[in-house]
Amino acid sequence: MTLDDYRRFYAEEIEQVASLTSPALVEAFARVPRERFLGPPPWHIATAASAGLAEMAYRSTSEPRHLYHNVVVSVDRAKDINNGQPSALASWIAALDLKTGYRVYHMGCGVGYYTAIMAEVVGPTGSVVAIDAQPDLAARAHANLSGYPNVTVHAADGATFDPDACDAILITAGVTHPHALWLERLREGGRLVLPLTIAVSPTIGQGVMLRCIRRRDGFAANLVSFVAIFNGVNLRDPELEAPLRVGIPKAMGSGAMAKLRSLRRDAHERDDSCLVHGPGLCLSSRAICEPELDTSTLQNRQFKLATRPVGMVKGSDFEFVTTPAGVPCPGEALVRVQYLSLDPAMRGWMNAGRSYIAPVGVGDVMRAGGIGRVAASNDPSLAVGDTVVGMTGVQDYAIAKAKDLTKVDPRLAPLPRYLGALGMPGLTAYFGLLDIGQPKEGETVVVSAAAGAVGAVAGQIAKIKGCRVIGIAGGPDKCRYVVEDLGFDAAIDYKNEDVRRALARHCPKGIDIYFDNVGGDILDIVLSMLARRARVVICGAISQYNNPESIQGPRNYLSLLINHALMEGFVVFDYAARYPEAMQALAGWMIAGKLKAREDIVEGLETFPDTLQKLFRGENFGKLVIKVE
Ligand SMILES: [Zn+2]
Repeated sequence: MTLDDYRRFYAEEIEQVASLTSPALVEAFARVPRERFLGPPPWHIATAASAGLAEMAYRSTSEPRHLYHNVVVSVDRAKDINNGQPSALASWIAALDLKTGYRVYHMGCGVGYYTAIMAEVVGPTGSVVAIDAQPDLAARAHANLSGYPNVTVHAADGATFDPDACDAILITAGVTHPHALWLERLREGGRLVLPLTIAVSPTIGQGVMLRCIRRRDGFAANLVSFVAIFNGVNLRDPELEAPLRVGIPKAMGSGAMAKLRSLRRDAHERDDSCLVHGPGLCLSSRAICEPELDTSTLQNRQFKLATRPVGMVKGSDFEFVTTPAGVPCPGEALVRVQYLSLDPAMRGWMNAGRSYIAPVGVGDVMRAGGIGRVAASNDPSLAVGDTVVGMTGVQDYAIAKAKDLTKVDPRLAPLPRYLGALGMPGLTAYFGLLDIGQPKEGETVVVSAAAGAVGAVAGQIAKIKGCRVIGIAGGPDKCRYVVEDLGFDAAIDYKNEDVRRALARHCPKGIDIYFDNVGGDILDIVLSMLARRARVVICGAISQYNNPESIQGPRNYLSLLINHALMEGFVVFDYAARYPEAMQALAGWMIAGKLKAREDIVEGLETFPDTLQKLFRGENFGKLVIKVE
């Protein structure tokens, strides 16, 4: 018999012992050569019967076929680290329910043997990101996995490493709590398998291997197995371990752990459904809404972020898919999206890294504001037929929490206006100009992107406050609109005029307020022309969002010093408590005819990538929206 034959028998043994149902997983065990991951012989093996004892009863062998039993193999005798029991690892990987193309994160990869098993299962279109906190193990895994182009290995701290969006996460080191990033990075329907343990020695812990499935409504959870495993580095919190020390032995002893249905992170009083109740983490027998039981036949077209764009957004950065619309869980509503808002900020949401709002995950529906009609409601605050605005995403149907949706009156204004002058752009203009700009009668105000959704409102509010207002816009049509329709005192066509000279002509006493939507060269020119105690409001920088190089900063910033001027940025979400005040003011001005708005409406959800490019090329005239229905 060849080693390949032994490996195949071994895979069958694991299949039987771990009750595997996935042929792909069994096949992976039959293919991956374990001996190549364990270093040169002799190998030190121990039987499953001795696993979990303080002292492993190892015997040594140099015969590779001895590795093909359900045995533990030492990888570092001094640190008492072994390769784990194959049937146990197999059952944990089985709980991840891996599919071809999945993106998997493996924390505590050791020498990488089981990372390779998972890499085989997800195939060349999938990928595995593996880390180990011990640099020597990570280096061994890196070398062992060099033949797998779909695997990357890092020596990294599991407490800080960001795996980015994942379909499945396997933690093979004992922890006292799931890291917040694991839960956040898991896609809807994605699975996290992790051991919550109580340290019984400095190196070993015992506890429960849990599977958590991300649902819209929270995390479903169930017990996979009991476990004895190495203690994770930096992922053990004594405060969170204390309730485990009480709760886990109790729940294990009584068999109550089999009742586990969800992992709760919300603050709540302990009740009968709490199996292990600790601060910020509770293992609960309370079931959560399982939207996979969706029987809806409504088809939902969605644009998902396929990859993080480099430079200008492209059609290939998105994936256009159709899925069932879904059913709302308690507290949620299903919204038929009618109009979608296209905003410059969307470009920033596609980039990795923390900003004022978390980035859109790769594979997630692209974030967008929208307005629509409630098609189904599972919350008493919303009725079918209500018109609501909120973050609907780029899709036909959105399921959102009722508390995140705002009811509006569709009779008071055309629906797209609630995405423009009466929506986020209007609110942004209101708070930016009035709170940061602090306009006073007779002052000179310059607004860039003046024909855009935010600039048009900012300039008109400045007029209402008695200022002289100069707009900067691209092309004669937009400039004419800004002056003739919106009532600005003058407009400068940056595409056909020398902006510096035109500003000097229109602002002989300098600029008191600059409301900046574009950044780049125009910001620099304005900085050189500030009046004493001027205010520069940084609202946005559309000229820089698609710049793959580093953002171009202002050269003339010392003008702030010379003129005792102020430059300040802001994010409209910080003003959420004052939205009603602003909405009332904006609506009042609109009814009085002092505030005009214009929308640029493009028909069809399927146009989204092209329409977004139109926004960044400055080709829209007025607030850009997509008519979805
Ligand atoms: Zn609880």
